[in-house]
Amino acid sequence: MEIKACMKCGRLYKHIAGEEFCPECKKQIFGKLDSLQRYLDTAENIDFNFIKNRYGLNKYQVKEFIKTGKLNVKKNPFVSFCSGCNEIVPRGRLCDTCKTRTLFDLNRVKIEILQDSLKNIEPIPKMRFIKKG
Ligand SMILES: [Zn+2]
Ligand SMILES: [Zn+2]
Repeated sequence: MEIKACMKCGRLYKHIAGEEFCPECKKQIFGKLDSLQRYLDTAENIDFNFIKNRYGLNKYQVKEFIKTGKLNVKKNPFVSFCSGCNEIVPRGRLCDTCKTRTLFDLNRVKIEILQDSLKNIEPIPKMRFIKKG
């Protein structure tokens, strides 16, 4: 068995695989998970500051719980995961980071297309005057 620092209070505890908290915190947190799950099911905008104040869990910890299946946001019709980075976002949207990156990529692609199309324009042939006679 391995000794690990609790993710919440920092106390050292005997770590069992899959357990990120000391037994004290675990009892405390798991008592609140049902309520937090109800919040995640219905909140139109998941507010991580609210979660932190009310449940004492930060965004990273909530995401860990979602990743390990202890919490989920599947039932919530208002949220989904960013297709770029798995961040929790309003349904059907990208997170700000990925949005900015996508815009940047789009602009770069546009510039590349523009440069390509400029390359392909044939130089205007010089007018040749044909001498008559
Ligand atoms: Zn603890
Ligand atoms: Zn993203």
